[in-house]
Amino acid sequence: MSTRAASFQATVRRREPLSDHLVRLVLGGLDGFVSTGVADEWVGLVVPGQFQSRYYTVRSFADGALTLDVVVHDTGLVTEWATRDCVGDVVTVTEPKAGFDPPGSAAWLVLVGDLTAMPAMARIAESRPDLPTYVWAEVPDDLTDYLPAHAQVTWLRPPAPAQSALASVVEGLEWPDGEGYFWMAGESAQMRAIRKHLMREVRMPSTHYDVMGYWRATLGRQPRAVDPGPVWRAGKAAGKTDEQIWADYDAAREAGE
Ligand SMILES: Cc1cc2nc3c(=O)[nH]c(=O)nc-3n(C[C@H](O)[C@H](O)[C@H](O)COP(=O)(O)OP(=O)(O)OC[C@H]3O[C@@H](n4cnc5c(N)ncnc54)[C@H](O)[C@@H]3O)c2cc1C
Repeated sequence: MSTRAASFQATVRRREPLSDHLVRLVLGGLDGFVSTGVADEWVGLVVPGQFQSRYYTVRSFADGALTLDVVVHDTGLVTEWATRDCVGDVVTVTEPKAGFDPPGSAAWLVLVGDLTAMPAMARIAESRPDLPTYVWAEVPDDLTDYLPAHAQVTWLRPPAPAQSALASVVEGLEWPDGEGYFWMAGESAQMRAIRKHLMREVRMPSTHYDVMGYWRATLGRQPRAVDPGPVWRAGKAAGKTDEQIWADYDAAREAGE
């Protein structure tokens, strides 16, 4: 079975800063691109002059326009490109993959994440207006209107630039009653700690959560990004749980260093 994802050429049609650290890019011309329709779907993005991909959530795909909300941090391959005027640039986008899969019994959503998780948390909350949704957002910018109004949001500031205290936030959570679904993304080391906490302390069934390492705190540019797509497909084919698959993904990235 091939693990190679299909890819599409796209042109940046619009670039719009949303806040100090978040830039919206609207891409067009993606012939043949089909959305999975799943709220946390992501694509690989290769920017001009580069071969490595970075991964971005599909904030929306409508009328042939693919919207990505890109965090610009201190340094980085996509960061440096997205910081300047990139309208008209041609990029490559891979076919989308997704993980969000709440069980039918879920009566609530708890979403926790940093700035990189905001696009997915916004789309997840928009996709399930029927469920009470509690969000903990650790962001350096004012993004008051970014999430839909029905979400009950606790805004948190990162303890320092490129740092996160989300693991301790989750350890202190009071969970809503009954069955629900927990979705979380952010810095990888924090996510590993949270998976352990969910398994050992909360004893949440692995079908009731997705915890994903979206980026790694390393010095300088990341040496190699690992495509979550093949890891995801191989894990699903092997009958692994989402939690096992994301642990495999963390391991693959560590092996790539
Ligand atoms: C499934 C998935 C979906 C994602 N969705 C989004 C999304 O919608 N929007 C988005 O912006 N990101 C998203 N990310 C995270 C994004 O892929 C990483 O942050 C990526 O490393 C950014 O690439 P870069 O080229 O700018 O920096 P890199 O060249 O990868 O890294 C350069 C330096 O910046 C540091 N760094 C990387 N990311 C961050 C960060 N977020 N904050 C602070 N320091 C950082 C690294 O530790 C390194 O030192 C997603 C990741 C995954 C796996």
